[in-house]
Amino acid sequence: MEDYAFERSISEEALRLGFSFCGFARNESLENLRSFYTDFIRQKDHAGFTYLENFLEKRLNPDLVLKGTRSVIALLMNYYPAEIIPEEDNFIIAKYAYGKDYHRIMRQKMEMMVNFLEKPGIEVKAKSFVDSGAALEKVWAQRCGVGWQGKNTLIINKTAGSFFFIGIIFTNLELIPDASETDHCGDCRRCVEACPTGALNSPYQLDIRKCISYYTIEKKEETPAYLRGKLKDRIFGCDICQDVCPYNRLSKPHAFPGFSPSSELTGMKKNDWLHLTPEIFNRLFSGTAVERTGYLHFMKTIRLI
Ligand code: SF4
Ligand code: SF4
Repeated sequence: MEDYAFERSISEEALRLGFSFCGFARNESLENLRSFYTDFIRQKDHAGFTYLENFLEKRLNPDLVLKGTRSVIALLMNYYPAEIIPEEDNFIIAKYAYGKDYHRIMRQKMEMMVNFLEKPGIEVKAKSFVDSGAALEKVWAQRCGVGWQGKNTLIINKTAGSFFFIGIIFTNLELIPDASETDHCGDCRRCVEACPTGALNSPYQLDIRKCISYYTIEKKEETPAYLRGKLKDRIFGCDICQDVCPYNRLSKPHAFPGFSPSSELTGMKKNDWLHLTPEIFNRLFSGTAVERTGYLHFMKTIRLI
């Protein structure tokens, strides 16, 4: 009979630190995904994200990232806000960007999880990832049983939806794996049908080049003409394919004051956005994910709508 005491203590520590879900998987080869990713890159569906090309070998083989990896831990952190910023007479910002940049908070907590794995008398190796490019985070999250990759390509937890940040840890510890999660999308196609740009025309596969999030967050060049008029008032990120997902009716508000919007951001109206100055941009977005996109790109998007 297996003793889950250590795995249970890791899950309890994760909950104590504010993560909502924690799961474990055995490190197994991801070679079966190679053709999917090489096709993805060959067809240029990755929209020139060079890390998707450069890290392919590492992404398929955790041992190249952390030699001796035996287990993978997946952690989900909730960012669903208690209040949605009013959308009437307003432009829309993705919920994950309402408050402070999550990378810093997540990385700190992931490091605390790594430290928790220390065991006396054992050489523990562990490495954590948050949006790093070197780990196939969604694949591991599904293998760890914390959710499945839905037709909108996001990780969905059956009991709590998809508004989660994902953290992954590779470790040389032998951990008892959880059962991998299965697909619960069934016949639903709401996200595919709701996507205003056709970026999900092949369910389970995002055409990054058509995604509003990509253009409003990452892409610094001109937004292509066919996206004009399709941005649905989105000025940073999108969320449409999450908002329509029935599993997100189960979303519960997060408990991190740092992820909440300021009263100034909550009070913005379309006219305020249209006259946004660099000073107000800095005040509104200092230390947030929006800051990284920069004032000029942000204003380019606003003027495009
Ligand atoms: S984020 Fe928006 S544009 Fe991108 S796939 Fe989802 S609905 Fe489509
Ligand atoms: S909207 Fe439906 S098809 Fe899309 S991810 Fe959610 S459950 Fe799956």
